[in-house]
Amino acid sequence: MESDPSDHSVGRGGLPNVLGVVELDASIMDGDTLAAGAVAALRGFEHPISVARRVMEDLPHVLLVGEGAERFARECGFPGCELLTPEARAIHEQGLRTRRSPGGEVDAVLAAVASRLSSDPERAAGTDAGTVNVLALDGRGRLASGVSTSGWAWKYPGRVGDSALIGSGNYCDSRWGAAACTGRGEMTMRCATAHSLVAHLRAGAAPAPAGIAAMRELDHLVDPYLGAVHAVVLDPRGRHAGLSTVAGTGYVFMDETSREVRERPRVLVPVAGRST
Ligand code: ASP
Repeated sequence: MESDPSDHSVGRGGLPNVLGVVELDASIMDGDTLAAGAVAALRGFEHPISVARRVMEDLPHVLLVGEGAERFARECGFPGCELLTPEARAIHEQGLRTRRSPGGEVDAVLAAVASRLSSDPERAAGTDAGTVNVLALDGRGRLASGVSTSGWAWKYPGRVGDSALIGSGNYCDSRWGAAACTGRGEMTMRCATAHSLVAHLRAGAAPAPAGIAAMRELDHLVDPYLGAVHAVVLDPRGRHAGLSTVAGTGYVFMDETSREVRERPRVLVPVAGRST
């Protein structure tokens, strides 16, 4: 998916920040050791998930951002690449045209970001962005999780989302389960949703009830920019579920008998939230 230029939510072809620069976030976690690696606001490399894995395996750190992440990717030998495709540039420019403010550049940036955030029907429906979540269980009961994204389209430069943050958009513990999120990261960052979901598994809940309980915690948020949030969860027995705050979404899975992915609907968990 990171290499697919027609997917505008991740890797090459992802939609850029408000200044037209693609910045990628990714994280990976090993549920057996709780080892984790992540990169954020990474520019110019197609596979942030692979760089995140090298952070996990080669460094005594969990998260590298911006220039440091790029330096590390270069040192690891990852090839640089232009992430902004002509199609993504066109979508970005079209979006800016409808949102440009008459002020200077900073005003325009802020106006664009603010107008993306407030009362945007695409944002509320969760259709203007995206992220890939991958949860995996092997035959020995070991779990792993990976998340990769270009984050919000038109985001403020340097903005880091939940996909890079262990506990918010990604968490994995082979004893209890793995969980990952997509949608408005600023909500899952404030509720530590992926970790919370795994904590509900640890307390004995099955995947769907654990997910519902974790999503319900979003109800307590006071947030004028409430948007869609989605989650997936997999436990060490191979039971899985998907959750979403919006209707009509699904997730795909495979097991040892599968030749192709199969799709299941996500459990709908509308989030009330509070705007004041
Ligand atoms: N969760 C991602 C972020 O906040 C974006 C998305 O999944 O739409 O960066």
